[in-house]
Amino acid sequence: MPGKIEPFLKSWIEVENDSDFPIQNIPFGIFRRLNGHARAATRIGETVVDLYALAMHGFLDGLGLDHSLFNVDSLNALIALGKPACRALRLRIAEIFEQSSASLRDDPGKRQEILIPVEQVQMMMPVFVGDYTDFYSSIEHATNVGIMFRDPANALLPNWRHLPVGYHGRSSSIVVSGTNIHRPKGQTKEDTAEFPEFGPSRQVDFELEMAFITGAKTDLGQSISTADAEDHIFGMVLFNDLSARDIQKWEYVPLGPFLAKNFGSVVSPWIVTLDALEPFRIAGPDQRPEVQPYLQFEGDHNFDIHLEVIIQPENQPEHLVCHSNYKYMYWNMAQQLAHQTVNGCNINVGDMYGSGTISGPGPGTFGSMLEIAWKGTRPVKMPDGTERKFINDNDAVIMRGHGIKGDLRIGFGEVVTKILPAFP
Ligand code: CA
Repeated sequence: MPGKIEPFLKSWIEVENDSDFPIQNIPFGIFRRLNGHARAATRIGETVVDLYALAMHGFLDGLGLDHSLFNVDSLNALIALGKPACRALRLRIAEIFEQSSASLRDDPGKRQEILIPVEQVQMMMPVFVGDYTDFYSSIEHATNVGIMFRDPANALLPNWRHLPVGYHGRSSSIVVSGTNIHRPKGQTKEDTAEFPEFGPSRQVDFELEMAFITGAKTDLGQSISTADAEDHIFGMVLFNDLSARDIQKWEYVPLGPFLAKNFGSVVSPWIVTLDALEPFRIAGPDQRPEVQPYLQFEGDHNFDIHLEVIIQPENQPEHLVCHSNYKYMYWNMAQQLAHQTVNGCNINVGDMYGSGTISGPGPGTFGSMLEIAWKGTRPVKMPDGTERKFINDNDAVIMRGHGIKGDLRIGFGEVVTKILPAFP
């Protein structure tokens, strides 16, 4: 497999056994030192590697990569070079940090310039997101929502098994982990009320999602086949698609989600490449009825990635409210991208595609408070004795995700956001 970093390799940088960032990961992100400029980076264990400093010291010579590619506030130009270039970069980084490789290991001066403890940097948005699509591709989630809001006997709408349902979201409010979001205000309407009211949402929710990021553009009119789709996908992040359920319920007919969805979606800062996720590739659910030819595919395109969601009230311990898995996705990324472009819609480098809420097959695996507390009828008991139907002010929502195969663990770190009170 091209781009494979052998699972037995170890780094001379210390990596704990339960780290998401062994030398086999080599994700990409954008960081800033305190009062410093933004730069491209990778991460091994708890150490951030400044790729600009690495390049300036000649460690990336011969790859044909201009140093300016790393002295940037987004990865768009780097990933636009294509998979072979990014693959060669990952492999070079693995060579430099492999435990027997002495050139940087034994040079304290250069190490000082290139390596930074992760707690000393601020992570930033890894890409400039031009366009953002949100899918609705978990059959368990779509079924749960259909049961709650429409008809238990016909929970899935007639189109659902025939195409990956999605909508075009807003990219301006996609922000990086650590960004706190104020409770949105908007119109809501009780079923029994004659008129809507205006005020802070009472039903702020998370949506446990993953998002993929495209690394190659297409021209208007061009379509991407399922066979070629992964060539256009650079990597993935965790994605918390915050949602205001009461605003959503009143506004969404007939054109779909709007202000209930665009007040903040939060991503994890490190883009994990599809190459790094290769060991976790797995078959997806059986698709019945058979899908249209343009949505059919060869091989396995799901990934076995354990996911969890935690609510942490201020000054309280973490409380796990969901454990799910990306492998439950009914529609895979290749199908989503083929569908996105089948009409000739063009895509750009850095575009983001949310999976839709990832719910699993049973209680405990649901990816939103809407489902976990089942429309408020089964509140979650918190360790401090309080209950949650949705997210309270000053609750932090933490999502984590990783794959495990034998001794190999590759993960995404976490995406954290705190819900602040509404602006007065
Ligand atoms: Ca969503």
